[in-house]
Amino acid sequence: MVKLIFYGGVNEIGGNKIFLQDGDTRIFLDFGKSFSRRAYFFNDPFLVPREIEDFLELELIEPLEGVYKIPASNGSLKLIDAIFISHVHADHVDHASLSHPMIPIYLGETGKMILESLAVTRFRQIDNDLTESQFHTFRTGKTVKIGSLEIEPIHVDHSIPGSYGFIVYTSSGPIVYTGDFRLHGPHAEMSWDFLKKAQQVQPVAMISEGTNAFATTFLAESEIEEKMEVLINSSPGLVVVSFLFKDVDRYRTIYRAAKKTKRKLVLSLKHAHLLRSLSRDSKLSSSLPIFEDEDVLFLVRRKGCTLDWEIDLYSQLEKMGKVITAEGVHSQQEEYIINLNLFDLPELVKIKPVPGSIFILSLTEPYNEEMELDYERLTHWLEHFGMPLYSLHSSGHILPHHLKEAVEFINPGKLFLIHSEEPQLLARYLAGSAKEIILPEKGREYQL
Ligand SMILES: [Zn+2]
Ligand SMILES: [Zn+2]
Repeated sequence: MVKLIFYGGVNEIGGNKIFLQDGDTRIFLDFGKSFSRRAYFFNDPFLVPREIEDFLELELIEPLEGVYKIPASNGSLKLIDAIFISHVHADHVDHASLSHPMIPIYLGETGKMILESLAVTRFRQIDNDLTESQFHTFRTGKTVKIGSLEIEPIHVDHSIPGSYGFIVYTSSGPIVYTGDFRLHGPHAEMSWDFLKKAQQVQPVAMISEGTNAFATTFLAESEIEEKMEVLINSSPGLVVVSFLFKDVDRYRTIYRAAKKTKRKLVLSLKHAHLLRSLSRDSKLSSSLPIFEDEDVLFLVRRKGCTLDWEIDLYSQLEKMGKVITAEGVHSQQEEYIINLNLFDLPELVKIKPVPGSIFILSLTEPYNEEMELDYERLTHWLEHFGMPLYSLHSSGHILPHHLKEAVEFINPGKLFLIHSEEPQLLARYLAGSAKEIILPEKGREYQL
């Protein structure tokens, strides 16, 4: 008999933590951070959790022995066997930092490279510090055996490289887990590789994300590029683009739009660090022109370089003639596309955007209160500098009609819908696509 318990990703986007037990073998599929519950009590960077007791007290994690860094009540701790990470977005991996350091964590090679770069460049906190974790990497299609289970990771297309879905072969039959995925992205064929294998094994259950339900824009990455080109060509001033630096597909899109419009692209040092790490990935490196391209530059922020990694990277990039200051951008604004996110907005004070400058928001729409506040703050800056905002985004998550197509294609015995704020809506929309649709309750045990 197989037991499934969902400790996160229930009625929320992210925070996936799926416990799976088959006989004596116990694993977790993903081990993410729940943004909504965390934001209920905390606000970065100063009001942050500091010890594991904070998480337990505020019910940000369950008091599970053998999982977290919690001492055993009876003195003997039997650890779970493994944690499998589908991709390294915070809502799928960050709580691995709170797991017992002896529990092996399995993830893709690219995901590990991204985490290694983030370990250097991001502000380290108790719930993102993975430096003690024991990582083991897997490859697409190569099965990993853990106790009585076999876990087969298969690549999928998502807004971060190194994303996987899993097929878990259990004593009750195969269970497929999509992780986060999409079928309208630039690498849809990877998601189809996963779906085809999932269909072949005739799973008893499918666990799927259901992020998109409302205000879903149906744009392909190529359409973003075309529209971006039109906007850049019609702007006589500075073009600012806001996007997530871990979204390598979006970086490529913006890079191509910059080439076509003959503008130079200005990125952050943090971005340079990540791209340098990913250039070791043979599958990605050829499509990530950065250091050899003289039209890609890196911004030295107004506060300058203060951290060791920034100072090192800055001196290397400076020798290559690849650094620029806000003043440098100011003097020839019509020649640049610059990536600025919310925390970088004070750079605009020195850049002083000329009339005709625009801001392209190439990120997900705000879907919670905190994001709405950030969005409002962004509009205040743009109002001040006279910059209109355009939204150009293609979701990293599956669109509802594609989810229906995927579920009907796989035809699972049971469908568990998670990673969604609108699971009821999707269950009604998908009715009839699977034999049974289950909207799991947090902490409840489901048997297969
Ligand atoms: Zn997610
Ligand atoms: Zn994700």
